[in-house]
Amino acid sequence: MKLYDLKAQGLDLQENIPLSRYTFTKTGGPAEYLAFPKNLAELKELLAAAKEEQLPVTVIGNASNLIIRDKGIKGLVIILTEMKEIKVEADKVHAQAGARIIDTSFAAGEAGLTGLEFAAGIPGSVGGAVFMNAGAYGGETKDCLESATVVTRDGEVKTYTNAELHFSYRHSLLQENGEIVIAATFALKAGDKATILDQMNYLNALRSYKQPLEYPSCGSVFKRPTGHFVGPMIIKAGLQGKQIGGAQVSTKHAGFIVNKGGATATDYLNLIHYIQKTIKEKDGIALQTEVRIIGEE
Ligand SMILES: Cc1cc2nc3c(=O)[nH]c(=O)nc-3n(C[C@H](O)[C@H](O)[C@H](O)COP(=O)(O)OP(=O)(O)OC[C@H]3O[C@@H](n4cnc5c(N)ncnc54)[C@H](O)[C@@H]3O)c2cc1C
Repeated sequence: MKLYDLKAQGLDLQENIPLSRYTFTKTGGPAEYLAFPKNLAELKELLAAAKEEQLPVTVIGNASNLIIRDKGIKGLVIILTEMKEIKVEADKVHAQAGARIIDTSFAAGEAGLTGLEFAAGIPGSVGGAVFMNAGAYGGETKDCLESATVVTRDGEVKTYTNAELHFSYRHSLLQENGEIVIAATFALKAGDKATILDQMNYLNALRSYKQPLEYPSCGSVFKRPTGHFVGPMIIKAGLQGKQIGGAQVSTKHAGFIVNKGGATATDYLNLIHYIQKTIKEKDGIALQTEVRIIGEE
């Protein structure tokens, strides 16, 4: 089966679509083909068709941790946000990969389950949270994830336990093996619903106070180097407010780069490289990006 046959059957498949429509930075070039599968069967059909046509496949969740280069992405881009079911069963929450981790966290809170409060304001998908081992305010995905079900690029479905995912700071096994998360189960504990929801709302208020949520961004651009905090290093280097094109080091939180209007992915990348070069010269530290940079060079 070819991609066009799938489209003829009613699968949501578009061509040459600007990915800036979907990224949190509002930057990024076009996808050659873009699909939004609604279930595992559609996802497997897409993978099989891309394989038959020898097209590379790129998987995206909520596009909140991505810079997609301005030349876009060749081949098939699959956005999983239509696979978004969330189910609470006793002290477990099962969520499909495209569900927002924020919604998953609130579903847990509403059910009086504690453990996912840290994720109440992380704007990614469940799949992205597992892939990145997303974390905030002292909690990480690895602390409450029981298992994740994946599909391989060849269409084989398998389930990993938490230990098998080799989680570490903003890292999981999936960053090495290219497998696609389709669902995750979180093992939580019974708690007091009002206290849980209060904590989530408190963390979100703190987030809006500290982070430039009024502008498009990709969250923290750099990983925290051991023993250092990125924001203060950037401020000390005199880079807060530094702007290249439409991309600016946030004046509210120096670890963020915001799109002040009309930024391109190239502006983002030039600013990232400028910061890395300056910090290397001044502090001798090689900053690694937390944000994933993809697309045609
Ligand atoms: C304002 C703001 C605040 C943020 N705050 C935080 C924070 O507090 N803590 C934190 O950790 N992060 C934070 N982030 C970053 C981001 O939300 C997280 O990294 C999130 O986990 C990314 O999920 P996503 O679905 O958006 O992934 P995407 O950006 O879509 O993709 C990121 C990577 O994950 C891969 N991926 C996505 N889905 C899947 C899948 N189903 N299977 C396999 N691979 C997949 C993609 O291929 C890509 O390499 C923030 C971002 C923003 C914009």
